[in-house]
Amino acid sequence: MRVGHGFDAHRFATGRPLVLGGVTVPHDQGLEAHSDGDVVIHALCDALLGAAGLGDIGRHFPDDDPAFAGIDSRVLLRRVRDQLAERRLEVGSVDLTVVAQRPRLAPHVESMRTRLAGDLGMPVERLNLKATTTERMGFTGRGEGIAAFAVVLLDE
Ligand code: MG
Repeated sequence: MRVGHGFDAHRFATGRPLVLGGVTVPHDQGLEAHSDGDVVIHALCDALLGAAGLGDIGRHFPDDDPAFAGIDSRVLLRRVRDQLAERRLEVGSVDLTVVAQRPRLAPHVESMRTRLAGDLGMPVERLNLKATTTERMGFTGRGEGIAAFAVVLLDE
């Protein structure tokens, strides 16, 4: 077994859709990024790459490469999945935590789980996703952005 951890944070920006866990969440702001800003998928990719000993998302998909401008992060996630498969690594379980003061994410959690588990080709029961606030403390609490943590287990 191999364990990986990932973390990411992005700042809010106006005039962009808010994409989290592969789902577009209705909100008046999106997240600033070279890609679609899906902070949940970025943390997840980092955890998967970390467990596999393959570095991080920035190494595989540089944010100064025009090929990745505005890219759907699910494409990146599926590419990471393929890299794991080439190394005979299977995703055993995933646990994700999204830290956001707003919007309220509870109504979207199940669709995020379904979508991410589908992209990883794993049973949805083995992919957990939860959302929390920081009770208005810190950058997420002040509504400056959204952060995400990921922990994964890979089976060889
Ligand atoms: Mg990122």
